[in-house]
Amino acid sequence: MDDLIRYSVITEKNPREIVLLRGTGCRWRRCRFCDYHLDFSRDTAANTALNLAVLAQVTGQYGRLEVINSGSFVDLDPSTMDEIERVCAEKHIHTLHFECHWRDRDAIDALRARFAARGVTVRIKIGVESFDADYRETVLVKGIDERDPAKIAALFDECCLLVGLCGQTADSMIRDIETGLAHFDRVCVNLMTPNSAPLQPDDAVCACFVREVAPRWANDPRVDLLLHNTDFGVGGTEHA
Ligand code: SF4
Repeated sequence: MDDLIRYSVITEKNPREIVLLRGTGCRWRRCRFCDYHLDFSRDTAANTALNLAVLAQVTGQYGRLEVINSGSFVDLDPSTMDEIERVCAEKHIHTLHFECHWRDRDAIDALRARFAARGVTVRIKIGVESFDADYRETVLVKGIDERDPAKIAALFDECCLLVGLCGQTADSMIRDIETGLAHFDRVCVNLMTPNSAPLQPDDAVCACFVREVAPRWANDPRVDLLLHNTDFGVGGTEHA
C-alpha cells in the first residue's frame, strides 16, 4: 500500500494538516467493516523511512497536525514518535491529534505528558462507530467492552462514528451523532464505502444518511462528515 497519499491539508472545519503514517499495524484487526489494518509493515526501519518522508511535508501552516495510522499511536515506532516531536517544535505545531483504540487507552496519559512538556496539546480520537453497544460489539466487533458513552469519553477528546450499514436507521444515526456531541469535543462521521471487509455499505441506509442526517450537521464546526473515506485527502492513491 505504498502508493497511498499520506499527506494532505484540511482547509475547512478545524483546519489542519494530516499525515497517514505506517506502523506495525492494528493489533485488534477484528472490526468487520475494516480493511484499513492492511496498511502496516513489520519492517520498522522501512516504516521510519516512510514516515520521516511524509512528516517532511508538514509546514505547520495551521499549527495543527493530525497523525493517523491503522491502529493506535502505540503502533508507531519510537523514531517516528521522536520525529513527530521534533517537527512539532520546528513547525510550531500547538495541537496534535492522534488515534487510539480503546484497548490502548492506558498509554494516553504518558503521551499527553510527553507533548505537554513541549507545549503541544494532544487530542485523542477513538473509533467508537456506534454507541449502541450491542450493535457495535456483535455486528461491528469493535472491541470496546464499555457501554457507557461518558466512561468511553473520559479519556478521549474526539470520536469517529460509522454510518451506512445494514440495521442502521435515520433515528439511530442521529442518536449516535447527538451522543457523540454530548460527550466529545468533536465527532467524525464516516459514511461506509465499499472495501474488502465482510461488512459492506447498505445503499438504502447510505442514501438515508445523505438525505436525512448529514444536512443537520453540514455547517457544524464540531462535526466532520466524510462521505468518502478519502475526504481528508489521505488514504487514496495517486492514480485513483
Ligand atoms: S477499524 Fe481500527 S481498530 Fe478496527 S480493525 Fe480497523 S484499524 Fe483496527
